[in-house]
Amino acid sequence: MELIEKLDILADAAKYDVACTSSGIDRAARKGRLGSTLAAGCCHSFSADGRCITLLKVLMTNVCVYDCAYCVNRASNEVPRAAFEPRELAELTIAFYRRNYIEGLFLSSGVLCNPDHTTELMIRTLAILREEHGFRGYIHAKAVPGTSPELIQKLGHLADRMSVNLELPSQKSLRLLAPDKDKQRIIAPMRQIRDGIAEDKDTRALMRRKTTYLQKARPPRKERAFVPAGQSTQMIVGATPESDFQILTLSAALYRTLSLKRVFFSAYLPVNDDARLPGADAVQLNREHRLYQADWLLRFYRFDVGEIVDEEHPFLDTDIDPKANWALNHLDFFPVEVNAAPFEALLRVPGIGVRGAHLIVRARRTTCLRETELRKLGIAYKRARFFITCAGKYAGQGAEFTREGLRARLAAPIEGGAHGRRSAKVTPGQMSLFESVQTPEKLRAAGGGRALGAVRAAKRPPKADRAAPSSRRTAHAGLPGSKDAACAGDGAFGWQRALELGGAGPC
Ligand code: SF4
Repeated sequence: MELIEKLDILADAAKYDVACTSSGIDRAARKGRLGSTLAAGCCHSFSADGRCITLLKVLMTNVCVYDCAYCVNRASNEVPRAAFEPRELAELTIAFYRRNYIEGLFLSSGVLCNPDHTTELMIRTLAILREEHGFRGYIHAKAVPGTSPELIQKLGHLADRMSVNLELPSQKSLRLLAPDKDKQRIIAPMRQIRDGIAEDKDTRALMRRKTTYLQKARPPRKERAFVPAGQSTQMIVGATPESDFQILTLSAALYRTLSLKRVFFSAYLPVNDDARLPGADAVQLNREHRLYQADWLLRFYRFDVGEIVDEEHPFLDTDIDPKANWALNHLDFFPVEVNAAPFEALLRVPGIGVRGAHLIVRARRTTCLRETELRKLGIAYKRARFFITCAGKYAGQGAEFTREGLRARLAAPIEGGAHGRRSAKVTPGQMSLFESVQTPEKLRAAGGGRALGAVRAAKRPPKADRAAPSSRRTAHAGLPGSKDAACAGDGAFGWQRALELGGAGPC
């Protein structure tokens, strides 16, 4: 199989994995201009210092011995299959990197033969990149549940970020839709990664210390940090009946117990005909969006899950963002005086973000803040004005200060400005760079031949490898291995119990 065909299949197969802050736009090349956004398999992520970086997002293989109901790559689907050889993928990544198409790699995989074999292929790829090419760019690697701890350890020293997908918000749903997986095999590597990161930080702190009572106690050798960018996970939303309350409670438990950097939500998209799955009407992109907003409130705005949703109101309102919804339910808290309110109170005001709250606190030391000053600070005054006073003056006239009156103003699309124009647009589906099939002709048209050139350059093996026998090719014929016995049921909150119990054990 041609390398370009493999890239086409395996970049396309990776698009459903959102655990890398994927985003995309569809902008073709134009004569006289440089670059396009149509090169196969690129997504964007954010580095620790906030830079947006472009990653080659690809699977090692889409051959999989598991049969998860929601997955396009499941064993029972008849789709074109492909697998990269480790050297092939490493050379491709370097070729793209040298041409400045990408700044890193997002590597996931189907389960080829078994988790250990799959992870070994990923380790070999990353070892070629890191050790032979001295690649210092960003690498995000998926850990396949069920991989042995030694291999997770090796992978963690080669990658910057790792993620283990939780897939579904409860053990019951996991058993129904992904019978080959179980929660302990998912949580065990997450726990190992958490402990590995903490241990690595301690070791590094010891190494940095110039004076120590016991010189010999210092770690002897400096090696690559273990998962320095932390770990993340992903959950599918809408394929199973769990509520937002359950999903957010689980997310909060993951942040608390496993120190995750991010929990990603992926709205269910029907790709398979399966009686266990809901139909196309279950696609809930708005719900995914609201969950991300609620997740933001948990991580940066000091909200608790119970303040956003509860057992009586288990679903987020899709017409209004969760922070505005909280404000409407707590009108007795408002209006707050921007020139005097504590930082925590400012964070609760719709239209004032974390950065805005910091700016207000700093600016009001030297000046009295009114509408002009707040607008200059970047506050969304159109929303905030209903909930604040500036030097004692309330500016939310024109709307009744009741839940219904304010809801009518906040739920309406914001008129004017770039945000207003964007908010009116309907997103037709998950954003993707992969909608069109990337044939060599299309790549040539998109990148003026440069993208194809990179693929061809990468396809040429290094001199030492040119005479290598064809036995280097990866075996694609994975057969379902023995399946673990089904876990005992423990209800919709099985995950949380597993997280809080600590220590792997029978479920
Ligand atoms: S393990 Fe499940 S979700 Fe992952 S590639 Fe295989 S079938 Fe898809």
